[in-house]
Amino acid sequence: MSKETFNLPEQFEKTASPVTVLRGLGPKRAGPLAERGIRSVADLLFFFPSRYEDRRVVSPMGSLREGESVLVEGEVLLAREERFPRSGKRLYRVVLRDHTGRLVLLWFHYRKRHLASLASPGTRLAAFGKVSFDRGLARMIHPDVRPPTPHGDDATGRGFVPVYPAVRGMPQGVIRRAVLDALERFAPAVSDPVPAPVLRRLGLPDLREAIRYVHRPPDHADPEALRLGETPWQRRFRFDRLFRLMLEVGRRKRGRRRRDGPVLEIPPQPHRVMGDFLPFDLTPDQVRVIQEIARDMMGPAPMNRLVQGDVGCGKTVVAAAAAGLAALNGMQTALMAPTQVLAMQHFEFFQGLPAGAGLRPVLVTGGLGRKERSHAAEKIRAGRYNVIIGTHALFSERLEYARLGLVVIDEQHRFGVRQRARLDRKGANPHLLVMSATPIPRTLAMTLYADLDISTIRKGPSGRTPVETRLVERDRKREIDRVLRERLARGEQALVICPAVDGTEDADLKNVEEMARALGKIYGPRWEVGLLHGRMAPEEKERVMDRFRRGRLPLLAATTVVEVGVHAPRATVIVIEHPERFGLAQLHQLRGRVGRGERGGLCLLVVSAEIPPEARERLEVLVRTRDGFEIARKDLEIRGQGELTGIRQAGSGEVLPAEIFEQPLLLAQARSEAERILDEDPALALPENRGLLRWLGPPGELDV
Ligand code: ADP
Ligand code: MG
Repeated sequence: MSKETFNLPEQFEKTASPVTVLRGLGPKRAGPLAERGIRSVADLLFFFPSRYEDRRVVSPMGSLREGESVLVEGEVLLAREERFPRSGKRLYRVVLRDHTGRLVLLWFHYRKRHLASLASPGTRLAAFGKVSFDRGLARMIHPDVRPPTPHGDDATGRGFVPVYPAVRGMPQGVIRRAVLDALERFAPAVSDPVPAPVLRRLGLPDLREAIRYVHRPPDHADPEALRLGETPWQRRFRFDRLFRLMLEVGRRKRGRRRRDGPVLEIPPQPHRVMGDFLPFDLTPDQVRVIQEIARDMMGPAPMNRLVQGDVGCGKTVVAAAAAGLAALNGMQTALMAPTQVLAMQHFEFFQGLPAGAGLRPVLVTGGLGRKERSHAAEKIRAGRYNVIIGTHALFSERLEYARLGLVVIDEQHRFGVRQRARLDRKGANPHLLVMSATPIPRTLAMTLYADLDISTIRKGPSGRTPVETRLVERDRKREIDRVLRERLARGEQALVICPAVDGTEDADLKNVEEMARALGKIYGPRWEVGLLHGRMAPEEKERVMDRFRRGRLPLLAATTVVEVGVHAPRATVIVIEHPERFGLAQLHQLRGRVGRGERGGLCLLVVSAEIPPEARERLEVLVRTRDGFEIARKDLEIRGQGELTGIRQAGSGEVLPAEIFEQPLLLAQARSEAERILDEDPALALPENRGLLRWLGPPGELDV
């Protein structure tokens, strides 16, 4: 491939204008958008719909079916506010008719003026919503209504209408209009950084087409493909993310080969550096992995190793041994965790080791005051501490290390490849140890982490009772209640996981806010109920998580944000709503969060009668199998055959681990295309290639 086909993206300059240049986005809107990471026009162009409403055709009211979401149009027969006779609560009722039948529209929460201005007897109205029947009459609750518009009209019109992830206080219409404006005025200036031959080989559309149609799918698009994220436009963006990732991995692999790392002296039985100071015996797998690490650290090139092993298999101890080996050589270790809660947890572990182990830990987090921080920084620079534990603060701040010999990154998938690179620069090519509890099959791991050697801990400490897993029918809630009461009464903790945050994502899904309220009503009087989800402020999340970890919060309703590595020994039950929405590997991780103490854990998967038999069968894998790698393999097998589950985010700018599981083929293609480009044009792989670096940057950090 020649260089001229690799167009570096000047377009990002043009589309770098602030979003406020767009129609309908005043300065007031900038804040909520920024919370979503949307600052520039480019950010908005890459803010993709989470789903689409099919408003291509107007359905006749006479042939509506229960549960379908449709567009109707008709004449208003009646429009008025009413009161429920008993409660006195208000509702708004509109009755529509077309030449085939009638439809009732109902609102329980509404702005009266808005509805009254739209609907009065005799006017025409278009409504989009979900149909249900009440005593034989078709109705929609809280439909989206507007005056009928001709086909093809912009944000309010027909066709596939995009639904964007919620932005605080911003109606969908505002987002839609702004995106349309961006498409019209800016998208034409976008040029494609991916070489055309690559796109041709893979049958993918160019960037301009992809951007346009991912926001406004044409009428001929296949609704099912759209829902599954399988249209060419959606695939194109998935490819881009994987392609960028593979380019970066390729660059790193090429870069590291050229460097010298610190050469360490290693005692004959390296595992004893830690093993002698622990209240338990190391498992054979732990001993083996420590030996693999020791061998790397003796060699001339810097270690670059991934340790993967199921939740609870004992990776922290392995990291401690590596830190011990560095300390023996007078070198420091930086241990980076994805959250403060995890950093704190690690710190407490290291603090608990006997002094003889030779480790002097310090915790560096954003939570420290300025004085404390500069005090700590001083002692780190002087080499007084040799295990420096923290979050990204470890490299984003002006921390200087006396002799950084080892970098450990825990729960690796949370850290961008580029962040890894930044931390690298803190020392003279320190050894790098990455730990992950996301078990992935070896072949996939080798593609994804082409720049890493891999050690695997297969078997955790024996004697721990595995988490018992059961499917529970939705109408057998009693059983769950009984279990919860019993466990809570024994002073144990429980987690309830829901797939949605609030009702805005999908009204049919259990959402965590409602769940927390419902649990509060039932258990609140005796046991405190906590709430945790991704839209909460980071400090608030940390606080809740920390209280849970310390056993102070008996019951926690959460989305999947609940931390992977958190060790809450008293948490023994996890109830998962809509488990069919999650991948098996993810469910396995979720259940790994309970039963980490002596007491046996219990995982209840709540299933309803409606879920298809295949989904049930898939869940049964969890009941039978405890081995995370085996589960990941099954998951991949099932998905590889085309069964797709879960809520798909049609592109949030991140490479999600789940997405990688689902895209083994696309990932392999991305890798071979990236390798081809780097081989044919080695200059691209050089760190000084700023153009490429820029493209590797926004939008969205690489997240593997
Ligand atoms: P993870 O691999 O998920 O990070 P941890 O390192 O947090 O797991 O270990 C989970 C628990 O197992 C900790 O309480 C740890 O002290 C304990 N543990 C680790 N290794 C052993 C061992 N060889 N024998 C007994 N318990 C162990
Ligand atoms: Mg861990």
